Amino acid sequence: MLPLRKIIAEMDAYIPGFQPPDALSWIKLNTNENPYPPSPRVREAILAELGDDGETLRKYPDPQSQAGRDAAAKLYGFDPSWVIMANGSDELINNLIRAFAGEGEEVAYVAPSYSYYATLAKIQGAQVRTFGFAADWTLADFPHRYQGKLFFLTSPNAPLGVTFDNAYIKELAGCCSGILVVDEAYADFSADNALPLVRECDNVVITRTLSKSYSLAGMRLGLAIARPEIIAALDKIRDHYNVDRLAQAAVVAALHDQPYFNSCVTKVCATRERFSAGLQKIGYGVIPSSGNYVFALPPDKDGKRVYDALFSRKILVRHFSDPLLSHGLRITIGTDEEMERTLAALAEIG
Ligand SMILES: *Cc1c(COP(=O)(O)O)cnc(C)c1O
Repeated sequence: MLPLRKIIAEMDAYIPGFQPPDALSWIKLNTNENPYPPSPRVREAILAELGDDGETLRKYPDPQSQAGRDAAAKLYGFDPSWVIMANGSDELINNLIRAFAGEGEEVAYVAPSYSYYATLAKIQGAQVRTFGFAADWTLADFPHRYQGKLFFLTSPNAPLGVTFDNAYIKELAGCCSGILVVDEAYADFSADNALPLVRECDNVVITRTLSKSYSLAGMRLGLAIARPEIIAALDKIRDHYNVDRLAQAAVVAALHDQPYFNSCVTKVCATRERFSAGLQKIGYGVIPSSGNYVFALPPDKDGKRVYDALFSRKILVRHFSDPLLSHGLRITIGTDEEMERTLAALAEIG
């Protein structure tokens, strides 16, 4: 027997969406990747950083990722002391838990949302609690005084796609005696975001990722916006070289090329609306989504059946066995052509 901590020995690993080795032979709509390539400026910046012979890689990157912080701060209208860069927003989620939730203390999130919060909290020995939705898409039974150390609010919600409005998020922040993390992994695809609340409420942290809206899942880039005391705490506990040289070059180029970014996001959102309408036409239910995915409900509410039927047609979507979600499927928005083929397959499958 390995002398593992009991909690590690007993826990299950988080299972990320399947990455098939022969990705090109699939219509891959299972991990909310962007169907469009990143800005061409990203490739140029990475090549420039690399130089002719890769010489730059001999040296460690800037431990602060300062150019990335500056670019994000400018884009979002904050002082750079309110921004931190990370190796994916998953790193930030992990470090927020490490910073704020000690052994036996409580971390909460909305069920259904991103269950990786629970895995990371358990690793720290924290207790995990979930809050469900009420019929009007607010949270059911959220306490007036929530004493947990951290509460993760995924907005837009993944996988359902609904966004919480800022008046409601502000009310929740007022109920939390700990930190309210608004995980805005998909906010770029939504009309709303909670950035103004970071200044208004002293316990609100926003996490963002470049994986989805900036087409950079393979670079592993995330960022958080919060007041400087919180950023300083996160800076204390991160790996000192958490963002590599190429990723630092990539994030600056990606954030600078807003016209390209806007054109991709606009295309994805237009495709999402067309696909959602198409789903309804073939008798599927669909929750209006503010993300780059939709939660689709087959007529017989058997998500696994449709997942399997799509899988056999080399269309990969996400099915969750969680009883809150097993009746549907999360389908990432791909190109128009991919979504038309998916709709045709769904119409055939029924
Ligand atoms: C994709 C996703 C993340 C992780 O983003 P990375 O930056 O790729 O680590 C975090 N939260 C939610 C809700 C996500 O969907």
